[in-house]
Amino acid sequence: MSLSRSTFLIKSPLVLSLFFAFAFCLAISMPVLATETGDTSASPSHSHDSVQVQSVSDSVAQPSTLAEQHQEETTEKSAPLGTLDFLMTSKYLAWFGMMVVGVVLLLLKRINRWVRLGMMLVAFVLFGLDYIFMVHPSPMCGVTKLFTFWFTRGTAVPVFLAIFLAIFVPSLLGRKLFCGWVCPLGAFQELINKIPFKPRWKQFNFGMFNAVRFALLAMFFLTFFDVKSYLSYFAQDVGNVPPDLLTAYSAYSVYDPINYFEQLHWGVSDVRWWIMMIILVVASLALYRPFCYSICPIGAISWLGEKIAPGRVRIDRKLCNDCQVCVIKSPCPTIKPLLEGKNLTLPDCTSCGECIGTCNRKAITFGFRR
Ligand code: SF4
Ligand code: SF4
Repeated sequence: MSLSRSTFLIKSPLVLSLFFAFAFCLAISMPVLATETGDTSASPSHSHDSVQVQSVSDSVAQPSTLAEQHQEETTEKSAPLGTLDFLMTSKYLAWFGMMVVGVVLLLLKRINRWVRLGMMLVAFVLFGLDYIFMVHPSPMCGVTKLFTFWFTRGTAVPVFLAIFLAIFVPSLLGRKLFCGWVCPLGAFQELINKIPFKPRWKQFNFGMFNAVRFALLAMFFLTFFDVKSYLSYFAQDVGNVPPDLLTAYSAYSVYDPINYFEQLHWGVSDVRWWIMMIILVVASLALYRPFCYSICPIGAISWLGEKIAPGRVRIDRKLCNDCQVCVIKSPCPTIKPLLEGKNLTLPDCTSCGECIGTCNRKAITFGFRR
């Protein structure tokens, strides 16, 4: 009895994937954190935060006399981190690690509901609880703040450029690899969606959601260009006080009041936090990833990238007998239009791979071939 139980534990894809993901993240975190902090006894999250805040400060410092003096002093202490330095920090290496684990599981066809549950729990704990890695700068900053700083200061801030690259380069290789295997907010919504709940609205009007998502993105850009000159002026005025500068930029962003990444600071004493979380939880019970489909700018941009990413779920027409079992068993609204060959208007496919195991005829696979 004990032998069969241990055999089950060793062979279980859930246990294997959890072990693999935790071991990988732990292995890469320790040495890199030690290098980042220069002190192995320091708290990882706080040290990581100070590295990032300092570097944002360095990157956005104003070229005024006072600021130059300040920057000279700062530079004497430590050189500003570049984009590559940020990409080599433990947080982004852990992001890449999660995506690699995801691709391996997809290629080995070792994914089911329980594996996804395990992997989403890992992503949520690692990147959504502000404990092991700092939540901020959040993934959304990789779009909004990268853009606002770039167009008002004329230079890309390394920490935001690093987030942008860490999200979109892998997502150009495999469909939404970041969203499907790393994003803590995506993981949170998927975990909630796994709770049995009726009515579940799977075949909703994705076109309508996508229109709202792109309208928000357009509004973000239009609002920005409308107030750009004021922002630039204000940026001069606040000098080298990056937290104030960041607040000033956020105030003009249409995403600010609906940025659910902010809720990952878990401000449970705030009534607004509870209202927003209740809305997200109820929406996630009924819909698959509602925030991703209707608001997130990363979701919108990577939806465009999906069309060219070579790594994707494909259906072998010769094996498929159109039984629709995958449509019934998969959690997303994507598999039905995928089956119908509507690739251009397809709702987001996060390469979660849950549909692969639903097909008894093995017609669904993930691969990188064209
Ligand atoms: S669409 Fe946005 S919130 Fe959803 S998984 Fe992707 S980055 Fe995260
Ligand atoms: S079609 Fe749906 S179930 Fe299949 S990988 Fe894409 S999002 Fe996951």
